[in-house]
Amino acid sequence: MLKFDKVTFTYPDGTIALKDINFEAEAGEFIFLTGPTGSGKTTMLKLILASLQPTKGKIIFDDKNINQLREWEKQLLRQKIGVVFQNKNLISELNIKENLYLRLELAGIKKEDQGDKLSQINHRFQLQDKLNYFPSQLSSGEKRKVALARALSLEPLMIFADEPTANLDPATSWEIMTELVKINKDGILVIVASHNDQIVNKFRYRVLSLNKGRLISDVRNGTYVSN
Ligand code: ADP
Ligand code: MG
Repeated sequence: MLKFDKVTFTYPDGTIALKDINFEAEAGEFIFLTGPTGSGKTTMLKLILASLQPTKGKIIFDDKNINQLREWEKQLLRQKIGVVFQNKNLISELNIKENLYLRLELAGIKKEDQGDKLSQINHRFQLQDKLNYFPSQLSSGEKRKVALARALSLEPLMIFADEPTANLDPATSWEIMTELVKINKDGILVIVASHNDQIVNKFRYRVLSLNKGRLISDVRNGTYVSN
């Protein structure tokens, strides 16, 4: 489903953000991507979205080398990946409904089909009463739920949540993690980038650890897989 093959990424200023990364993720897996701030987690997300091109190596998603895709094919790729960004998830000038519809709109979903797609998701995340509010009127936890709802709206093959519990209290963090687990149970590959060890250790899922741009370990259910 997703494969990094000897991927190195260097920013234009010479910062080596990722160095010789190899791993494979199967459909339906739940993976934590951990590592201290600056270890390369968000860069990995940008590479998966083909917003950045690897300096060396290749990335395969859904059987395609994503760096050989043309621009319109990259747009399609991004529709198959639901993302919860670390920050700047919602557009502050748009209300919640408009924020949610925007992703469908950009994907060319017809107006008459948009309502159907969203009503179920809004119900799931209990957002029905919040649709006319603006992002600034919602709590951090509610905003994170809107981001999750939007990430799911195009029925993605994969969800990448970048620090989804940052700045949330433990109860809300738990709620968001529970939603991600449910999403995964529906067969979606879920990757959660987090530097919160407490959260990571609560779940017995596969853990990829980055340190200074290198993948230093890959642990499945407590079993170490060397790199
Ligand atoms: P993480 O998400 O794990 O905190 P990042 O992927 O954001 O890590 O960053 C990895 C490394 O790349 C860090 O050293 C960071 O300073 C650097 N970096 C991130 N974005 C840029 C950029 N636009 N230009 C130069 N260096 C960057
Ligand atoms: Mg980051």
